[in-house]
Amino acid sequence: MTYSTQPTASHFINGAYVEDTSGTPIDVIYPATGDKIATVHAATPAIIEQAIESARAAQAEWAALTGTERGRILRRAADMMRARNHDLSVLETFDTGKPYSETSVADATSGADALEYYGGMAATLTGEHIQLGEDWVYTRREPLGVCVGIGAWNYPTQIACWKGAPALACGNTMIFKPSESTPLCALKVAEILHEAGLPAGVYNVVQGLGEVGSSLVTDARVDKVSLTGSVPTGRKVYAAAAAGMKHVTMELGGKSPLIVFEDADIENAVSGAILGNFYSSGQVCSNGTRVFVHASIKEAFLDRLSTRLRAAVIGDPMEPETSFGPMVSERQMQIVLDYIAKGQAEGARLVTGGARLDRPGFFVSPTVFADVTDDMVIAREEIFGPVMAVLDFETEADVMARANATEFGLAAGVFTRDLARAHRVAAGFEAGTCFINSYNDAPVEAPFGGVKASGVGRENARAAIEHYSQLKSVYVRMGDLEAPF
Ligand code: NDP
Repeated sequence: MTYSTQPTASHFINGAYVEDTSGTPIDVIYPATGDKIATVHAATPAIIEQAIESARAAQAEWAALTGTERGRILRRAADMMRARNHDLSVLETFDTGKPYSETSVADATSGADALEYYGGMAATLTGEHIQLGEDWVYTRREPLGVCVGIGAWNYPTQIACWKGAPALACGNTMIFKPSESTPLCALKVAEILHEAGLPAGVYNVVQGLGEVGSSLVTDARVDKVSLTGSVPTGRKVYAAAAAGMKHVTMELGGKSPLIVFEDADIENAVSGAILGNFYSSGQVCSNGTRVFVHASIKEAFLDRLSTRLRAAVIGDPMEPETSFGPMVSERQMQIVLDYIAKGQAEGARLVTGGARLDRPGFFVSPTVFADVTDDMVIAREEIFGPVMAVLDFETEADVMARANATEFGLAAGVFTRDLARAHRVAAGFEAGTCFINSYNDAPVEAPFGGVKASGVGRENARAAIEHYSQLKSVYVRMGDLEAPF
């Protein structure tokens, strides 16, 4: 391997790489081979202290810049990310195992979109003026302070930017903790932001497992926590943040429905089901893993799906034509294989896939179960792997009740040519992010997030600004002030 995957040091604090080898070593494994490609060290209490103090010290000066000045740095970083897209995509592939055919169009590019979008928006962030007769109130839109971002392992570059860009645009500083499985990419984001002119201490990265995240979340000097992770972790982090009355954004898991009505364009519906189940080897929070197909078209749908899955190019993720890569880790692969075994034990019909591939790395073949029923474990729990459950339905009322009968509410999709039905169904979904005749689009311009157990708050769009800033009201009296005595 000629590409260097060992970072300069484990952490990026106060504008520079920092190491403390007394922290627990974390091996970074390339999921496509199982080889160790780097080692980082978990943050020690001394490193955590350094990060929090740097972020605190830098915040007031950063917030005192004009929005135009802050935005210019973010936009410059966006341009640099695009210019370095190839190297960043290769690193993302090493970190996650996702094929280069995906990472080169969906990771650094999406991160750059967020930096550009919030860079452009920074100068437009204002309070308002409220006239009250002669008196008036004005509101100041102020930053929250020090924000902690905690990331999942499926989109390490994107998550680092989706949290960092709006936080920084609003005048906050950030400490970002990547998942222990994918520690490499966020360091590059920090490096680029600082090359683009970000003052030291404004965006920091510290490594570690859950306990490092937990130390950050419970620190009284931290004002906001944004987590991307599973529902169980979300419950813990939300509770810890609540104890300190901190602001939160929770981007959590899902078990989203994708409904294919009898009048749907089957090719498009199959495309949606593929994108919503097998992109990133199924490791996408918003995936439509419960595919409800009208009984009258089920076999036609399964035929086309099976045929198209045979065209998946599974293999070396660095090869440009590869379209399907490994699971992120051996542990995640084992979790997925256990769910596949449960599906078979519960009597679901295995249409295709269902096994680990006989090659190095953590590859599980794209798997489709049909004749799945609502009570099966594979229809109720988030698998976070390439396992699609196909369920039959007969009527719209029935399928809507079943689609919503889950504690999750991240995403939902519908395929139909009947536009009135499409909008009625979208309105009826208990989900934060819905798709009509499409699946898993995530443009920075659109709010993204979940309802019910899938989350609190929204990322992206103008909506995220509300979660990284707060309003101060200032009442201004123009005349004399009367008092009762
Ligand atoms: P986890 O919930 O296991 O971990 C998420 C992050 O939280 C990791 O960085 C983890 O550290 C950290 N963490 C764990 N425990 C604590 C704690 N007590 N306090 C603070 N931080 C903690 O999720 P995964 O990394 O396994 O990611 C998969 C999950 O993420 C899936 O459920 C998926 O649906 C969800 N997800 C949601 C998205 C969304 O936008 N809604 C997008 C992508 C994924 P470490 O793992 O290093 O120990």
